[in-house]
Amino acid sequence: MLSIDMLWSKALRVLEQQLTSITFENWIASIKPVRFDEDGTLVLLTETEIHRDTLERFYSNTVAKSLKEASGEDVAVRFVISTDAEPAAQKDEPPRRRAQTNLNERYTFDTFVKGESNRFAYAAAFAVAESPFNAYNPLFIYGGVGLGKTHLMQAIGHYIASENPDFKILYTTSENFINDVVFSIGKNDRQSLQNKYRSLDVLLIDDIQFIGGKDATELEFFNVFNDLKNAGKQIIITSDKPPKDVPLLEERLKTRIGWGLVVDIQAPDFETRLAILKRKASEEAGVEIEDAVLSMIAERINTNIRDIEGCFNRIVAYTKFINKPMTASIAENVLKDFISSGEKRNVSGDLIKQVVCDFFDITAAEIESSRRDRKFAYPRQIAMYLARNLLDSSYQEIGMMYGNRHYSTVMHACEQIENLIPSDDQLKKTVEDITARLNNS
Ligand code: ADP
Ligand code: MG
Repeated sequence: MLSIDMLWSKALRVLEQQLTSITFENWIASIKPVRFDEDGTLVLLTETEIHRDTLERFYSNTVAKSLKEASGEDVAVRFVISTDAEPAAQKDEPPRRRAQTNLNERYTFDTFVKGESNRFAYAAAFAVAESPFNAYNPLFIYGGVGLGKTHLMQAIGHYIASENPDFKILYTTSENFINDVVFSIGKNDRQSLQNKYRSLDVLLIDDIQFIGGKDATELEFFNVFNDLKNAGKQIIITSDKPPKDVPLLEERLKTRIGWGLVVDIQAPDFETRLAILKRKASEEAGVEIEDAVLSMIAERINTNIRDIEGCFNRIVAYTKFINKPMTASIAENVLKDFISSGEKRNVSGDLIKQVVCDFFDITAAEIESSRRDRKFAYPRQIAMYLARNLLDSSYQEIGMMYGNRHYSTVMHACEQIENLIPSDDQLKKTVEDITARLNNS
């Protein structure tokens, strides 16, 4: 008979053939064979409870079949959890085709760095992505600001969209939702509100903590929720607090729709911070940043990932301006500035808009307008680029600030400016001057 390790490695080869690589990496690769029980059942160690449950529910047959193929005999399997199992190796996943949704293209599983701080949330999110409706419904992800809730939630949406091109998937913030409700009440047209939400397969509600306290809308919100849940639709919720700290919400959710699974995301440890920075650095073509600089950022910025990205973007912007590799000593200065002014930095989306308008001598109404002549379009593009790079605002947020433009328009504008800067000295100077004004105001 084969040794247990040999048997498992043969089975792994079979499984690798049969499953998609993303499934294989997420669920199978980290399994460790432990022993045969007395009744001949093969005991397999898994990483988390979610791994164990998901494997049991969805993959035990597949695994058993692979073992049969490997050994020629029927082998029963049992999954167990171990707290001392090593974390799965991280490998890049292949790019996936994406169906159209209102999701931010950057927020996929591929770009989400796994670490100790988000291991549990990631596993839960992935389970829901692979098995919407069946795994955990609703899935409730909570954690502090900038820790990756929106990213993870949207990653689920992307994944479901790519596996189920016909699904209707809607991402919305609780503020948007409230706007919808208020609008429908104003128009006395609840029907269209209900139609909009009831036709969905998957609803992603971001930052649900804002719902608390707003009575009429809250009620409508729970009606919609209730309907969706009863119709077996997948709901994913994020919040900056655990449900128990949003008592009204907890109460209503619990009584109305019951809990699926609640998971949290913690602040990232140093390794995760560094891994995120390395990934980002590898995506920045044409910008050279020394590893020491990345470690420096990872060491100093330990609040959240949004701050890390903000800092990184600043380093990148600076590197582009000086057009030289970023060294630790230059970074030291840039970082000093960033950390001392930190969150209190005066630069805001409004300030950028105002300074850009002043610089080009146009009005806020003009920069927000739909006019496409260069006189307005060019400053608008620059303002969008700066909002993106200095504030790390989302394309959607920026779109809203500039006449409700679609995020793809914003993305295009940012890319265009970014691509022009290296070869267009005039533009480079303009961006530098505006940045200086922003920093001095
Ligand atoms: P939250 O919604 O919790 O406030 P976001 O999802 O908006 O946080 O994340 C803030 C930024 O950090 C986003 O740009 C996101 O892509 C990035 N980010 C967060 N977590 C990760 C991660 N694990 N790997 C890579 N990027 C991340
Ligand atoms: Mg968010």
